[in-house]
Amino acid sequence: MPTPSPLPLGAAILPFRRDEAAATPLLLSPPLLTGEEETQFARLLQSGWLAPAGPTLAAFEAAVGEAAGFPHVLATGSATAALLLAYRLLGVGPGDEVWTSSLTFIATIAPAVQMGATPRFLDVSPESWTLDPALLAEELAAAAQRGRLPRVVVSVDLYGQPADIPALRAACDRWGVPLVSDSACALGATQHGRPAGQGACLAVTSFNGNKIVTAGGGGALLADEAAPIARARHLATQARDPAPHYEHTEAGFNLVMSAVLAAVGLAQLPALERRVLARRRLFDRYAAALGALPGLSFMPEPGWARSTRWLSAMLVEPRRFGADREALRRALLAEGIESRPVWKPLHLQPAFHHAPFAGGAVAAALFERGLCLPSGSGMGAAEQDRVIAAVAGLARA
Ligand SMILES: *Cc1c(COP(=O)(O)O)cnc(C)c1O
Repeated sequence: MPTPSPLPLGAAILPFRRDEAAATPLLLSPPLLTGEEETQFARLLQSGWLAPAGPTLAAFEAAVGEAAGFPHVLATGSATAALLLAYRLLGVGPGDEVWTSSLTFIATIAPAVQMGATPRFLDVSPESWTLDPALLAEELAAAAQRGRLPRVVVSVDLYGQPADIPALRAACDRWGVPLVSDSACALGATQHGRPAGQGACLAVTSFNGNKIVTAGGGGALLADEAAPIARARHLATQARDPAPHYEHTEAGFNLVMSAVLAAVGLAQLPALERRVLARRRLFDRYAAALGALPGLSFMPEPGWARSTRWLSAMLVEPRRFGADREALRRALLAEGIESRPVWKPLHLQPAFHHAPFAGGAVAAALFERGLCLPSGSGMGAAEQDRVIAAVAGLARA
C-alpha cells in the first residue's frame, strides 16, 4: 500500500480546528509515496551521479518518454523551465505575441512574458474548459488580416483534461503558427486516442509535488523529433560548445533536472496509470453523490478525451444550491477540507490587465462558480464521504 507523505502540501497554511477529532486535514492533491523511492535513491548513490546528468537521469527521461508517448525528452527543473526552453526554441522575443487559453496557471505564459513577448488570452470552450478551436481559428484569421500573427499558440490541458490538439493544430497550420502544449497536469491523459499534447510541435509536463506522479519538483520538454531536444539540452546546460575549456558562442541557461529528483520520479512513474484510475473513480463518485443536487454540476469530458481528473472540479450555481462557491469553500475549510477555486483567468489578473482578450465569458464564469475538491490518489472512501457530506450539508434543503 502506498503511504501518505508525512509532509502534505498546504498542511502549514490550513487553519484546522484542533478540537475536531474527525478532522484529519484533507488536502487537495498531496504527494503520495510508492515505497520504491528509497531503492531508487540507493541506486543513485551507488552510481555516484549526484549531478544533473548520468544513468538515473537518462533512465528517467526514457521512462517519461514511455509514459508521455513522446520519443524525445529533456528532464528539466520544472514545467515552467521546459516552457521557457520551448519559447526560446521557437524564437519568442520582444515584439512577438504569444497566445494561450485564459483559464490556466500563470506558469503557462510567464516565461514568454519574461522574454519580452506580449500575451493575448483566448476564452475556453464550455465543452472541455480548454482553448476553443473555433475561436482560435477566427482570431488567427483576423490576426493574419492585421498582419500580426502570434509567434506561438499554447494550448493548456486543464485539471488533467487534454486540449483538442487536432482541431487546434488545424487552425494553427492554416497560418503556419507553431502549437505548444502545456500538458503539465495531464500525464496519462489521451485525446483522440493519442497521449495528451501529441500532435503539438512541443509539449511540456510537470513533476511538481501536487501532480499525480511527482519527482518532488521537476518537469520535462517533450518532442517527436530529436533535433529540438538536442538544441534544448544544449541551451539548458549553459550552451557549452565542444572544447576542452569553457567555450560559448551564445549564453544559455541552467535548467536541467537534478538526478536526485529523477530518482524520485523513477520510483513514481510506474504508479501513473493506477493513480489515474483512482482519480477518475474519485471524480465519478463525487459526481454520482453530488451531481444531482440542485445547483451543482461537474466538469464535462468530451467524447474524444480521457482526462486524468487530476483535480475533481465542479460548478456551484448559488441561487439553486443555496450558497456560493466561496461560502462553500469556507465551510469546507472549517471542516478541515482543502478546496480551491478554479483558476482565475489570466485576463482578469492584475499582472495582465492591459493584455488583449478574445472571446466570451466562459472562463470568467468557470472561475466565478468553479471549485476543485480534494482529489489525492490515496484518498479513501471514508475520507471522500466526509467531503461529500460537508458539501451536501450546505445544499438548500
Ligand atoms: C503545474 C502546472 C504548471 C507548472 O508546473 P511546474 O513544474 O511547477 O513549473 C504549469 N501549467 C499547468 C497547467 C500546471 O498545472
